[in-house]
Amino acid sequence: MSFVITAPAQQTLEVDGTQDRFPVRRIYCVGRNYIEHIRETGNDEREPPFFFQKPTDAIVASGGEFPYPPLSSNVHHEIEMVAAIGKGGKDIVEADALDHVYGYAVGIDMTRRDLQGQAKEMRRPREPGKAFDDAAPCTPIVPAAKIGHPDKARIWLAVNGEVRQDADIAHMIWNLKETIAHLSASYELLPGDLIYTGTPAGVGPVVRGDVITGGVDGIGEIDIRVT
Ligand code: MN
Repeated sequence: MSFVITAPAQQTLEVDGTQDRFPVRRIYCVGRNYIEHIRETGNDEREPPFFFQKPTDAIVASGGEFPYPPLSSNVHHEIEMVAAIGKGGKDIVEADALDHVYGYAVGIDMTRRDLQGQAKEMRRPREPGKAFDDAAPCTPIVPAAKIGHPDKARIWLAVNGEVRQDADIAHMIWNLKETIAHLSASYELLPGDLIYTGTPAGVGPVVRGDVITGGVDGIGEIDIRVT
């Protein structure tokens, strides 16, 4: 069999410490998932998590360039822990959820905040703000077999060396087990899916020439230049 046009390349990520690569199928992202203040009010007004997707070919490997996207003058960084699914499933229960995770990475959910705001206002789909070209920088994947399943670790992001986001993944409103349970109730997860698990406070704009660095302790560090 041959294709009538050039077939798109399979999107992949490096697997840390190996020559092998992780093939990426879909990119799911969790909406707002960190408390900005310590949850001392005792409120339990947790709304169910919500999800959106980014195109798979929006991945930019760490060390690469993020071309400032068109149609926006307010592009924000959102540092996020990324979980890479190794074993698929539907209606996965929390107790089994981590068995489905192959490994972890550090990603940035790049966001055209102005277009996101317009979409919200006009009750239109979220894609223009979230699902544009190059909107998903990501580090190599570190296998869980090597580092386990981190549930407490510093997550941070700096622009030109100035720290803007600094939190702990333990502060997620919906932890990864809960996220996988919810997500797999809505979509069948398959090997190759990535889940961007949400960002802590401190998001903000970037401009051309900025160097974005960030990381999750124990998983890795990302390094992206805005061009
Ligand atoms: Mn996000």
